[in-house]
Amino acid sequence: MEIMLVIVLCCVVMSAYFSATETAFSTFNRIRMKNIAEKGNKRAELVLKLSENYDTLISTILIGNNIVNILASSLATLLFAMWIVGNEGLSTTLSTVVMTLIVLTFGEIVPKTLAKQFPEKFSMFSAPLINLLRIVLWPISIIFRGLQKFLSKIFKNDDDKGMTEEELISIIEEAEEDGGLDEEEGTLIKSAIEFNDMEVSEILTPRIDITAVRSDVSKEELAKVYAESGYSRIPIYESDLDNITGIVYYKDFFTECYHTDTPISEIVKPIIFVTKTQKINDLLKDLQEKQLHLAVVSDEYGSTAGIVTLEDIIEEIVGEIWDEHDEIVEEIKQISEKEYIVSGKANIDKLFDELDIELPEGEEESDAMTVNGWAMDILGKIAEEGDSFEALGLTVKVLKMEGRRIENLHILDTRVSEDDEADDDAAETEE
Ligand code: ATP
Repeated sequence: MEIMLVIVLCCVVMSAYFSATETAFSTFNRIRMKNIAEKGNKRAELVLKLSENYDTLISTILIGNNIVNILASSLATLLFAMWIVGNEGLSTTLSTVVMTLIVLTFGEIVPKTLAKQFPEKFSMFSAPLINLLRIVLWPISIIFRGLQKFLSKIFKNDDDKGMTEEELISIIEEAEEDGGLDEEEGTLIKSAIEFNDMEVSEILTPRIDITAVRSDVSKEELAKVYAESGYSRIPIYESDLDNITGIVYYKDFFTECYHTDTPISEIVKPIIFVTKTQKINDLLKDLQEKQLHLAVVSDEYGSTAGIVTLEDIIEEIVGEIWDEHDEIVEEIKQISEKEYIVSGKANIDKLFDELDIELPEGEEESDAMTVNGWAMDILGKIAEEGDSFEALGLTVKVLKMEGRRIENLHILDTRVSEDDEADDDAAETEE
């Protein structure tokens, strides 16, 4: 009888082991485990090897767990029958109730909870034994693996396309929340991931802001343009901006041309043209290969839509870069909890990101890239100072115009936040 009791106890311990192993292997952090393995930890290596074959591992765990649970229940029924002689109904009921409580508490809930707290440590602890059991139980698990394969063929999942960009970004956000990554590291990684999808149209300096000169410009005039604009590269055009023919570099101009007889035309360097829909990662490679810093962006009619420089591209990864001579302009300025002053030039996606506005796919009100374009699309006309509209829970008012362009506008966020709702609910409950 004592031996049976010991076997039941061992079965409960093994049941706890299997449950904890299952939880540990399904929740451990692969990156952390890889780091440990790279430092030479053999058990971590074994954990990674086992988890690579997760289906076999789960079959082993399930088979092992069921064997020990069934064995424990059967032996317990026999034990109770020996203890309570002559009342089979009572002994069976008691053994079922007691064993269910014991297996549920000590064989499932407690070990799973503990393993979830220390998944890496527990998976390394349990790896050698589960590896041995995997080999021992191999003949049985092979039958279940066959069944699994058969079922997964019947219920094929075509949706599994590997990890999506959104999932990757969620992982990074989780790592930021857990403290594994700081905010700056997270932002940098997210920008690098999103970088691939961006098109030139989202980052170009628009035509209206281009500083360029006509090919018949005098040396004095060009020197003045460099001094006033502060730009190192000035595009040069025939007749109008739609016919840009090249670019004049500040250095070439002042070292080879300004104080010599060399005409400007001799120091004009070739320029490349790109479309608005070109991906910026391709353009970055192109500019690097051709050792260029600036490209002219053409629209669908072949007219000049703007220019884009290496700095514009790099800024999409590392954030705003201010040169020594740049005037620092904060395009989206929060002036109170729910109020913002926003430049018309600001990128509309950046504004929506900042305000946590997510537009469902296909429900964009406008194709505009800038806040200026978005506001005018909604107003349906060239804006005027004082014009206002409401959209997406925002009250927007045009503050200042610069010619036909909005210089800045005021945004009041009138959406009710979750915090506000919680406060309102709390107030209502108090009443
Ligand atoms: P560098 O820093 O090498 O001296 P830069 O200050 O002249 O160059 P970039 O740093 O390449 O210019 O670009 C800074 C910003 O100025 C970018 O947004 C770019 O689009 C814009 N820019 C550069 N050249 C011109 C230009 N000729 N006309 C209008 N905008 C320009």
